[in-house]
Amino acid sequence: MKHWIIRVTGLAVIAGAFLFAAGGWTKPLRSTNEKPVSVAAVEDAIHTETPDAKRDVLIPARSAMRAPALLEGTWINSDSLTLKALQGRVVVVDFWTFGCHNCRNTLPTLKRWDTLYRKDGLTTIGVHSPESDYEKNMENVRREVQRLGISYPVVTDNNYETWRAYGIHAWPTTVILDKQGRVRFTHIGEGMYNEMEQVIQKLLAEETKSTKANSDSSRGKGLAMTEKINKTDEEWQREMTPEQFQVMRKKGTERAFTGTYNDNHEKGVYYCAACHNELFNSDTKFDSGTGWPSFYAPTAAAASVKEVVDASHGMKRTEVVCARCDAHLGHVFDDGPKPTGLRYCMNSISLDFEKK
Ligand SMILES: [Zn+2]
Repeated sequence: MKHWIIRVTGLAVIAGAFLFAAGGWTKPLRSTNEKPVSVAAVEDAIHTETPDAKRDVLIPARSAMRAPALLEGTWINSDSLTLKALQGRVVVVDFWTFGCHNCRNTLPTLKRWDTLYRKDGLTTIGVHSPESDYEKNMENVRREVQRLGISYPVVTDNNYETWRAYGIHAWPTTVILDKQGRVRFTHIGEGMYNEMEQVIQKLLAEETKSTKANSDSSRGKGLAMTEKINKTDEEWQREMTPEQFQVMRKKGTERAFTGTYNDNHEKGVYYCAACHNELFNSDTKFDSGTGWPSFYAPTAAAASVKEVVDASHGMKRTEVVCARCDAHLGHVFDDGPKPTGLRYCMNSISLDFEKK
């Protein structure tokens, strides 16, 4: 029998007493979760524009409400984080306290998601809203966070400010925010792990609002995004340097030995400079001596690059473009090293590198 701890304060005491007297207090939170399917279906069909606070369903972006700020507390495992700074990342906000065994039961799953999806753009934040004075003690919180093997950021919420801002009533409550900082999913208690993981995957795959050529804050970092991007030349021109535009949209070629990444031997990932699609891993980079960064294979991520027959300049070559935004990247030749025998000859200017 699962039993979620309920924080009862002020009016809730009166409401609770009433419910208890009415015999409805046995599984109050479970019963509200078990909304008949027909009601949910009708609500979806209405396409309401008002903010939606439904639980255990993925709320459509159009009716999702902006998540309240994470109010100031002491941060463990991280400097202070703000949701604004986390724009472009999916955020799991876990309201917990170390003394709650239901909370502790959810930790292996939260830790697994953090390990699996952090590199793909997920940030997990534990909001530690204590139940007893013992749980408010900073030394105790630090010790327990370490003992429980939590390496994601935790912020203390001793005055329940963040708890109240989010309208939380029970430990643990998991809230999942999309890349625009909107509340898209809320679950109270243990369980629903598969459903929540699917929500995380879905939100990680959602398009971020803008894909500027020279800023990285708004992009889905590390995520191979498959939605196509179609923009006019005018739009691309606004987002790119003239040199980038010439190569990436007009299929030009940078001069050999002039690019930033020809000689780059750092470990990391190369992304499309226009849309941040993941393209190449440094493990497949080799010194071709041509003066352009060369790789023997694109990343295993789905839809990294696409090949197009190029018959310009009196040659028959195979052009390589970004599978997501069709930006010209370079060409592929069949004189590369093992294991593929291919040489992806790329323009540095079409690439963005992120060190591992
Ligand atoms: Zn691209």
